[in-house]
Amino acid sequence: MKRFCLALAILLLGCSKATSTGDWKNAPVDPIKPGAVVKLRVAHATNPRLARFSPDHLRIVLASAQLTMWKHFGIYVEFTDVAETGIDQLFAVIPPSIRAARVESIYDFKSGKGDRHMLAAGIHNTLTERKTSLEDALTFAAPYLPDAHPKDLMSLSESLSTIMLERLEHWRHITAADGTPVIDASPYNEWVYWDTLGYGNLQYDLVLTNQFIASAEYYGVDIHSAIRGGVTVGTTSYSRNSQYSSYVFMSTFPFTDTSENTRQLRDGDYSEELAAELAGAYLAHEIGHLLFQLGHPFGQKSCVMNPASLLRFREWFNQINGQDCPIGSRPEMRAGAIPPSFNQDWVKMTPQP
Ligand SMILES: [Zn+2]
Repeated sequence: MKRFCLALAILLLGCSKATSTGDWKNAPVDPIKPGAVVKLRVAHATNPRLARFSPDHLRIVLASAQLTMWKHFGIYVEFTDVAETGIDQLFAVIPPSIRAARVESIYDFKSGKGDRHMLAAGIHNTLTERKTSLEDALTFAAPYLPDAHPKDLMSLSESLSTIMLERLEHWRHITAADGTPVIDASPYNEWVYWDTLGYGNLQYDLVLTNQFIASAEYYGVDIHSAIRGGVTVGTTSYSRNSQYSSYVFMSTFPFTDTSENTRQLRDGDYSEELAAELAGAYLAHEIGHLLFQLGHPFGQKSCVMNPASLLRFREWFNQINGQDCPIGSRPEMRAGAIPPSFNQDWVKMTPQP
């Protein structure tokens, strides 16, 4: 999960009328109990301009997620058949009124109109809201920061916002197979919209996508995404149509992309099979957010809930060990650590059919 508990972050930040007002609540949902069998509804939303996993490799992704869930959480996860959809169709479920309200939360890096101080303040709010200690944050992030010894969380947030924007600029130069930039004028790279899909009539618990999600926004930016340059691998966000009150979206792009930018953040090249296996294991991290509402034990390398550093998924995978990081072993690993939150006003604005 890149960002999850956004309600308080927005209230503290007070970044815009559209998002600082409103009635934010935690969704009343009980975490799943160990030993349960759960069935998740899966879709694959694709952008035709970008490389994608084949159906066979998608099966590897899901099998790997299933195995990792079993080994780390003792939960047997079943998946529906994968529904194929276009990314344009998927984005069409976002109610226009909520989409308009959310625009102000986006740091507009494409036009260069963004408020750097608000970005740093937003990161600080996320760290504070999630009770991230400076020590844990530095265990995770110090090797990747120009200033390895920030004096407090605000200095760290400023450092993170700087590196985030620098690296995000690099991502703008990578190109798709058709020779045009992967990040184009379309809204599909913007995390904020992915974080909004669940207010619409979304019928999936997991959305896998080949879309590259890289952006900056004034709420919800966490350490691991910032040091990648705003790149999201996966997030667990509110969803009105899910029994878990949230849904997972996960981008396969960081696993399959072979651009120099990606390779610099990765730990060597991956075959397509390995990429699928690693993507599946990382999907289990998101399913841990979905089913148990777990947080991020930053720097605890045995924990599947410790985010991967940069895009070093093989290293992450080789270090995780469920026996050394059971549910309940740390505050972030307690079921219900980060309950899904949502804006009640937005739900009222869009009655379901
Ligand atoms: Zn996470």
